[in-house]
Amino acid sequence: MSDIPLLPQVEAFLRRPHGLFIDGVNVRSHSSQTLAVTNPATGQVIAQVADADLADIDAAVDSANRGFQLWSQAAPATRGNVLLKLADLLERNREELAQIETCQSGKIIQISRAFEVDQAAHFLRYYAGWATKLSGQTLTPSLPSFNGERYTAFTLREPVGVVVGIVPWNFSTMIAIWKLASALVTGCSIIIKPSEFTPLTLLRIAELAIEAGLPAGVLNVLTGGGHVGKGLVEHPGTHKVSFTGSVPTGIAVGRSAMGAGLTRATLELGGKNAAGFLRDVDVDKAVDGIIEAGFLHSGQICAAAERFFVHRSQIDAVLEKLKLRLSRLNIGSPLDEHTEFGPVTHHQHQLKLLGYFTQARAENNTIIHGGTLIDRPGCYVEPTVILANSINDTLLNEETFGPIATFLPYDSDEELLALMNNGPYGLSASLWTNDLGKALRMVPAIHAGTVWVNMHTLLDPAVPFGGSRSSGIGREFGSAFIEDYTELKSVMIRY
Ligand code: NAD
Repeated sequence: MSDIPLLPQVEAFLRRPHGLFIDGVNVRSHSSQTLAVTNPATGQVIAQVADADLADIDAAVDSANRGFQLWSQAAPATRGNVLLKLADLLERNREELAQIETCQSGKIIQISRAFEVDQAAHFLRYYAGWATKLSGQTLTPSLPSFNGERYTAFTLREPVGVVVGIVPWNFSTMIAIWKLASALVTGCSIIIKPSEFTPLTLLRIAELAIEAGLPAGVLNVLTGGGHVGKGLVEHPGTHKVSFTGSVPTGIAVGRSAMGAGLTRATLELGGKNAAGFLRDVDVDKAVDGIIEAGFLHSGQICAAAERFFVHRSQIDAVLEKLKLRLSRLNIGSPLDEHTEFGPVTHHQHQLKLLGYFTQARAENNTIIHGGTLIDRPGCYVEPTVILANSINDTLLNEETFGPIATFLPYDSDEELLALMNNGPYGLSASLWTNDLGKALRMVPAIHAGTVWVNMHTLLDPAVPFGGSRSSGIGREFGSAFIEDYTELKSVMIRY
């Protein structure tokens, strides 16, 4: 059990002075402020990035508007080909990108390889296919002719303009690629603001995009704190924001966007996702499902389940087996290929999770497993299982975004549905059962943008994803993104 060696190009990349990516090149920020990027597995600072200022924002917006003029006129096939080449380049540089990602986020190396690189490439290729399939409709106007004149009409799908993509820290590459691909395929340009905790991989990917043939200015990357995102959303030269992050920030972004003159906004936010296990599920299968739903990437997945409802007749057996399975997890360095469970991504998050352990104890919840930080350098937190007393307990209502699974038993299917629907959110949910007919009857009654049956968390570019209720506005993937990144123009003709 030991860490894989970092590639020389990763060492060299981390040592570089990191600027902003504007107009196709790395440039120095106008700001003298920098932000430290810390490896959460060691607590060591691995790089400094610029905390961009208003002059940088102006420069990026000017560049993106020039990029838009060019890119919106590019042939659809050209757009698709650039995305395909970028997908190839991600794969060709797979290990380098995965190692940079693991160093900045603490994601275990297999997840960085499989999701941040391989899945990102898969998404790019899916979107590339849409480039040549975006079109309007021909329409037959409905009014009668007054004097023998005739009417015809058609619609055009036009790119919305300069998009601001604001990205969280949990999947800093894959989520950025979703936004980049949606923008580029529809003919928009994009400025991406990565999270202040995980800005590095995207700076490298921007260079690969130029190598893939993307004209300068079509993709700009501005690093920095939340003020950079706000400045971009409120800038008169940007036309749409695609935000992924927490509910409170999403609401602030939505306000800024509306205040900036109805800048279009897609908000992909968090929630408090539920997993419901029907009485017929085998206990071992339930435990596999709970680990898949709640503990992948230390629970730092927006769609991960945090509320688990198990039939009263099975809850003791499920909790006992889950405790055993979690106690055998190989917890360690994310650069060790044998590690199954790594650190959380940053120190404030680790402290937030510690606060939830204190809160659970204060409310007399039962800590079945974990409930502490792990005593080693870096941001390690025990995978934790909590048995709550009531649906009103804090751990069943606030998003922890960590490896904390909170349980409550239920007695009837009606009660299960009411528990799953408790609260204002609606990002995702899962039902686990051998009775598919029953599951299909229950699905329409569940408030969530995605309901999985006998699975949880898997996202596919062909299947729309997004939140209902307080978990967001808009959908990504499938054909759903087209609505958000294009304007529909109607053309009517009298002849
Ligand atoms: P966050 O809301 O704190 O930050 C997200 C991004 O917004 C960061 O880049 C941040 O710098 C920026 N930001 C902060 N203030 C801003 C402002 N006023 N205007 C514009 N931008 C601003 O979220 P986080 O802690 O980075 O990520 C975790 C959250 O993201 C969780 O709630 C999780 O559920 C959610 N999430 C949702 C999805 C989804 O697809 N629905 C996916 C991943 C994560």
